[in-house]
Amino acid sequence: MNPDILIVHGPQVPETPLVLDSPHSGHRFPADFAAAADTWALRDGEDCFVDTLYMPATERGVPLLAAQFPRTYLDPNRHAADIDLALLQDGHWPDAHVPSGKERLGKSLIWRLVGEGQAIYDRKLSVDEVRARVRRYHQPYHAALRGLIDAAHAAFGVSVHLNCHSMNAVSGAIGVAGPGVAHADIVLGDRDGSTCDPALTTFVRDLLAGRGYSVKVNDPFKGVELVRAYSDPAAGRHSLQIEVNKRLYMDEVTREPHGGFAQLQADLMDLVDALRGRYMPAGGSHG
Ligand SMILES: [Zn+2]
Repeated sequence: MNPDILIVHGPQVPETPLVLDSPHSGHRFPADFAAAADTWALRDGEDCFVDTLYMPATERGVPLLAAQFPRTYLDPNRHAADIDLALLQDGHWPDAHVPSGKERLGKSLIWRLVGEGQAIYDRKLSVDEVRARVRRYHQPYHAALRGLIDAAHAAFGVSVHLNCHSMNAVSGAIGVAGPGVAHADIVLGDRDGSTCDPALTTFVRDLLAGRGYSVKVNDPFKGVELVRAYSDPAAGRHSLQIEVNKRLYMDEVTREPHGGFAQLQADLMDLVDALRGRYMPAGGSHG
């Protein structure tokens, strides 16, 4: 594994049914990015500190897969063929094409826009450049996640994948919900009940609501590719997206953590402990 691309923190083999991943907290900028927007602007798309927020889970036998590259370079939470044709040199993509509609927001596999609609590039990308990003970044990230989920499921007969994100306090001009919408403290996404047992979503919602957080489900974020790709609730493979509001743990202007970080982290670790208690088979090993 190339540590400039991804890191699996904690146990390399799951010691409980839980697997965590943080696809959007990376900020190692690849040398061939060649973006026109500056680094500060490009980091607007980042789920800042989400890997750090969940790191104590790794002391509980739970692996945490963390992308190291920025989401604006390539978004692993997209299908590999979700190509925005407006980015390409001649507007033509010769391989399989699975557009998600995110190109309207400039947020397909390779983002075109960031922040309030600023163009990321002042150039077009070649087909080979896009293919190389998929091969070097998307494929290994997905292979690592699939491997961890498969290993948890093989060992315990059930897997619980938490896909960890954060969101701005208020949606921007190119936000999913449209501009100026204040987000709840936490938004859970199970793609309308299709990526995990609805009882899992309810369990997580009730635990977090019990801690005083406002929690919404599938509103406005339902989850995208990473909760879809390897979930199969009927077979005991559960994936749930968790978006936490940045204002709970960081200053969105300075992008530094603030005093709320520790409390949110403690509450999230209580969630991890509760899920271990709920899904760990009786008599199983403990991490
Ligand atoms: Zn995210």
